[in-house]
Amino acid sequence: MRVEIIPCLQDNYSYLIIDESNKIASVVDPSEAKPIINFIEKENIDLKYILNTHHHFDHIGGNKDLKKKYNSVVIGYKDDASRIPGIDILLKNNQIWKADNFEAKIMHIPGHTTGHISFHFFKEKLIFTGDTLFSLGCGKIFEGTYQDMFDSLNQIKKLPQDTKIYCGHEYTLQNSKFCIKHDPENLNLKNKIVEIKKKLENNIPTIPSTIKDENECNIFLRAKDVESFTKLRDLKDNF
Ligand code: ZN
Ligand code: FE
Repeated sequence: MRVEIIPCLQDNYSYLIIDESNKIASVVDPSEAKPIINFIEKENIDLKYILNTHHHFDHIGGNKDLKKKYNSVVIGYKDDASRIPGIDILLKNNQIWKADNFEAKIMHIPGHTTGHISFHFFKEKLIFTGDTLFSLGCGKIFEGTYQDMFDSLNQIKKLPQDTKIYCGHEYTLQNSKFCIKHDPENLNLKNKIVEIKKKLENNIPTIPSTIKDENECNIFLRAKDVESFTKLRDLKDNF
């Protein structure tokens, strides 16, 4: 499996997971159809599956057009069936979704929205975290509670440390400024910031990150309890 990062809209990332052996792909969170179509046509592959982490427009905007063009199967969380355009397959927490050579465990990770899920491709050690876990940050709490988000992040934290994290936005540099402000002595974070800046200067995405990097550097994952997490989340909202 190969993952291609497709920049969409202002700062979104959609991802194509490509199975080279039979030239088919799954897309995660197509913000818009056009950049996805351009890539699919260029590579001459078929888009069989559309995976949605949550219902926000910048994650589902391409669903309808892509489904129409490629007859793709749309996959999302059962409780968000009414909010995910074109949904065909309804997933439950902890379910394994398996189709062709794709195999991912579904983790229900509420907080940003009540129906947010992540797709954990455990064999390849990849996780698509949408707007729940960002590199050096986490999503805003729109529908869930602080406790929901804290628990969701704690689930992700425990995955194998070398798991690669693919999140919904390129927010890493902005997030790093908040982390370093509240964790100024963190050497791992300082090194990560050097790395991030180098990538961005060369027009390279800062994604993927890893569980290890995030555990070491992401202040939201380093919060010891829900009280300190809540305080940080509120501070970040006004940062
Ligand atoms: Zn969102
Ligand atoms: Fe988003």
